[in-house]
Amino acid sequence: MNTQLIVSKFGGTSMADINCMRKCARIVAENPNRRVVIVSATSGTTDQLTKLCQNIGLLEKSEIIEKIQQRHIKLAKELGTFGQSYPSVEDLSNELFEFVMKKEEINPAERDYILSFGERFSSTIFAAVLRQMDEKVIWLDVRNILLTDDFFGKAEPQLEQIAHRAKEKLTPLLEEGKVVSQGFIGATIDGKTTTLGRGGSDYSAALFAEALSAKTLEIWTDVNGIFSTDPRIVKEAFPIPEVSFNEAAELAIYGAKVLHPATLKAAIRKKTSVFIGKSMNPELGGTWIVEKPEFSPAIRGISFRNNQKLLTIHSLDMLHQFGFLSKVFEILARYKISVDLVTTSEVNVALTLDTGIKSDFNYPMLDAAIQELRGFCKLTFETDLALIALVGNQLNQTAGISSRIFQVLEEVNIRLICYGASSHNICFLVKDHDAITTVELLHQQFLGAEVSKT
Ligand code: ASP
Ligand code: MG
Repeated sequence: MNTQLIVSKFGGTSMADINCMRKCARIVAENPNRRVVIVSATSGTTDQLTKLCQNIGLLEKSEIIEKIQQRHIKLAKELGTFGQSYPSVEDLSNELFEFVMKKEEINPAERDYILSFGERFSSTIFAAVLRQMDEKVIWLDVRNILLTDDFFGKAEPQLEQIAHRAKEKLTPLLEEGKVVSQGFIGATIDGKTTTLGRGGSDYSAALFAEALSAKTLEIWTDVNGIFSTDPRIVKEAFPIPEVSFNEAAELAIYGAKVLHPATLKAAIRKKTSVFIGKSMNPELGGTWIVEKPEFSPAIRGISFRNNQKLLTIHSLDMLHQFGFLSKVFEILARYKISVDLVTTSEVNVALTLDTGIKSDFNYPMLDAAIQELRGFCKLTFETDLALIALVGNQLNQTAGISSRIFQVLEEVNIRLICYGASSHNICFLVKDHDAITTVELLHQQFLGAEVSKT
């Protein structure tokens, strides 16, 4: 392990304007071990770039580019002479303008190239902000390091190649100063720009931490940690001070939107501790995700996701057969549809599909997968469901947990339950309109006032 190194990632709201950027730069400057800084695009920019890839007229395209350009020129101007960064905002704007205006239809590779401008703009400006604080700063084009496959829109990082490039090209730079680079984007081995999927900058930072064997990965965002549940729903929700990798992964996967779910995969591989804090209020502290937290309560937090789809697959071929489930999952895998919950009976299998948090690719892929499944099964779809996950420790071994849960939920119709596969979670589906009350009741029961003080 690189005993001191900290990789720090700042999200889009942390890059929102020059004051935000300066606050973030102060955080970086404060600790000499914060040597690798990964940033997201300024907030709203990736959405605008996405719009540029849609079928819109030239006038609208040039207006959007103008807005993106103005936002970044304003930031550079506010920095005075320090705004003369490399690559320059002007060069980036011209490159974007020329590319977009001559294209009629955008293919997935070109889309990734267009989306890459958000992080390229923000990182060059942020490097300049940091340089203004007397720091020796190197701006690095992440496409030299973060190599991926060519699944545009949701490219898969190539870990061995990343580790190799990091050693060869990044480690020497760290001797010279702090390195600022882009989240979310990568490149194929032959240099084509790719992206890791929306929200992917956390994952990029985790990949850097992994490749460099960093001590800590910091995710600076707009909330001071992972909360016991969504604080917009339950006002008693509190930031969790310390949580294990497994619990945090479950919380992130099932709805706590603080972290891109793949981030922890990378952290777990190298046991890198992860800190999540609020860049505008670092003094509030945040959540530490560690291998072995000091305290392991049965229930640590409650995540939930609305708009879940439940797909029930029925086929008499399942009766005393082998290979049926593998056929179903082979199809889903081929179309990159990820499944969350699964329950089975002799001739039915019910599963929830994760269609919400992935790239826009999933929808056409889902239709194609369904088409194929219909060839040999009867399918039923249910919608308007919410997936609620109770996350904690030894849940499948703690006597009485399930009875406490179901007592609380006496009045609620539970559509499906997954219990026992993991010691870290119990999941179930309720109707969307019952979700808030369900979460409130569970939070009160398991994470109420007296618990939050411990
Ligand atoms: N800028 C990208 C997005 O908005 C990546 C990120 O912010 O993590 O999705
Ligand atoms: Mg983000």
